Amino acid sequence: MLFGGVAAGLAAVGYGARDELERLWWRLPGVDQPREEGAVDYPGAQWAAASPENWRRADRPYDYTVDRVVIHVVQGSFNDALAAFRNPEHGAAAHYVVRRDGRIAQTVRELDVAFHAGNRPYNERSVGIEHEGFVDRPSSFTEAMYRASARLTARICERYGFPADREHIVNHSDVPGTDHTDPGRHWDWDHYLRLVRAAMAPDR
Ligand SMILES: [Zn+2]
Repeated sequence: MLFGGVAAGLAAVGYGARDELERLWWRLPGVDQPREEGAVDYPGAQWAAASPENWRRADRPYDYTVDRVVIHVVQGSFNDALAAFRNPEHGAAAHYVVRRDGRIAQTVRELDVAFHAGNRPYNERSVGIEHEGFVDRPSSFTEAMYRASARLTARICERYGFPADREHIVNHSDVPGTDHTDPGRHWDWDHYLRLVRAAMAPDR
């Protein structure tokens, strides 16, 4: 019973708030969060490790509050992204890569700070999601990709407890100081946010 001790201490909260309990457990000081080789934070993802040169070990959300998702486009293929993130010379990696058919790879644990936003405080507070394709090719953004990515983002919003809106789910190009233009004008934000909200559990 992983959450037994915490649950006992919070008996007054009631049993409806399982997500809340998980979050509180994560925030307990001095608790070493379990790490298992090949483990993923999103059940639908397959692990494809990035080089440790492209991220920094951390203990989120205990050491840094996570309240942003940053949306990226690879400017290349799913496999290009995985190869770049495996390369210790690349200097960057996101947490996830989504393929046009909806397959998802996790490349950095959400516990850790991935170098994806080009801005240290943003890296520390965000989960970065790359999408296969090119900013100037509207056909890159398939329905399967939107839906898979939206389900992933919905789980991230729920787990860390932040709203699914444009303040918290941002373009890479919105990040202060970046010169990157992704995901670009063809990324359909209205559609994506609708899918994210539809994938979220109703308010309890
Ligand atoms: Zn980007």
